[in-house]
Amino acid sequence: MELYSTKHESPNVNLEEAVFRGLPPDNGLYMPTNIPQLPTSFFEKIHELSLPEIAFEVTKTLIGDEVSESAIRAIVEDAINFEVPLIKVEKDVYSLELFHGPTLAFKDFGARFMSRLMAHFLEKEEKEIHILVATSGDTGSAVAQGFLGVPRIKVTILYPSGKVSEIQEKQLTTIGQNIAALEIDGTFDDCQKLVKQAFLDEDIRSKKHMTSANSINIARLIPQSFYYFNAYAKTVQLGKPLVFCVPSGNYGNLCGGLIATQMGLPIKHFVAATNANHIVPSYIETGNFEPKPSVKTIANAMDVGNPSNFPRFLSLLGGEWDAVKAQVSGKWYSDSEIKEIIQKVYTESNYVMCPHTAIGYQGLKNALSELSGEVTGVFLATAHPAKFTDVVENAINQKIVLPQRLQASVDKEKKSIKMSNNFEQLKQYILA
Ligand SMILES: *Cc1c(COP(=O)(O)O)cnc(C)c1O
Repeated sequence: MELYSTKHESPNVNLEEAVFRGLPPDNGLYMPTNIPQLPTSFFEKIHELSLPEIAFEVTKTLIGDEVSESAIRAIVEDAINFEVPLIKVEKDVYSLELFHGPTLAFKDFGARFMSRLMAHFLEKEEKEIHILVATSGDTGSAVAQGFLGVPRIKVTILYPSGKVSEIQEKQLTTIGQNIAALEIDGTFDDCQKLVKQAFLDEDIRSKKHMTSANSINIARLIPQSFYYFNAYAKTVQLGKPLVFCVPSGNYGNLCGGLIATQMGLPIKHFVAATNANHIVPSYIETGNFEPKPSVKTIANAMDVGNPSNFPRFLSLLGGEWDAVKAQVSGKWYSDSEIKEIIQKVYTESNYVMCPHTAIGYQGLKNALSELSGEVTGVFLATAHPAKFTDVVENAINQKIVLPQRLQASVDKEKKSIKMSNNFEQLKQYILA
């Protein structure tokens, strides 16, 4: 796989280099120079394929020139070892539950796939790799769990102090082994900025092998296309075109769907749904992309004021506002609307959703009412509701039971290193 930088000022690289670099030196984002089509025969038999089988075919088509078939099979079978149920919530409205992995959020797909791909590349190397990851809640624990115990890899998670839920914080700070958590006095955007600075710092680059595990890493995007194919496989016999609604923050998940489209998956329309950080819905409405400082919401994994995958989103859609508008609708909801949605869907359909997923449901409903023709609508359920107990229990007026995996980390003691959002302090920590 050959990749270019979206800023076009860095040389093209292969997958291995893109995965370990994370970001190109010109501070753009790596994108494949060519996204190959899957053969017609794949789509003809797709309804017979399991998720790991689909994952294998998609990955082979994308990176088969660089990774052997046997390695790809081992990577996808080990990484994608959990279910993705498609639940009918209402007529023509389905929930694609992406939260049945170890950290109960969809980021397990990206993190588990990337860690195994890196471990594959490192088998032939002698070096140690330091992974820096900024998290607004769920990325950090998914990445850390994905890399837990992987030899020659050290993981440092940066998270904004006081801005993640108690359960999320426990998940980030109780892992141990090769995983450390830095509690940053600042916002998620500060954390993301610190990580970017570290990657661009010449001093650090000359002394340490660093890499990123945020959704800017191309290895995170590949597995985020698998479940779009899987949802298609499960609904193709309904005979109606598919509309996907994706609760979005950094837009990595939605880019996974756009990659699937480019590989030939017939998707009629996308909905980009978010919270009060409505930078992309506003872009879709006005044509102006205006990043802003993030604001805190109850759907905090999407509290992103400057979506990092936006250049990829734009390029996958052809680069022009008109083309974007034709293929993607933008929707956004306030905190009070999110609570009402959770309550309404619980009352009417007995289905419990996390705040992000609720945004996905409502974005789909509103977009469907504007689209013509019969369609099958699928919203992505990005996290288990138990990860947001306070909000969800309040909205549905019921207790929800914590899954065993979550309870285990809640019972452990928090271990974090407190730090200001001053870069020099982080630099000292990395070089120590
Ligand atoms: C990260 C996350 C999102 C946003 O995904 P992006 O790929 O950043 O757009 C949505 N919901 C949950 C629960 C998340 O953890």
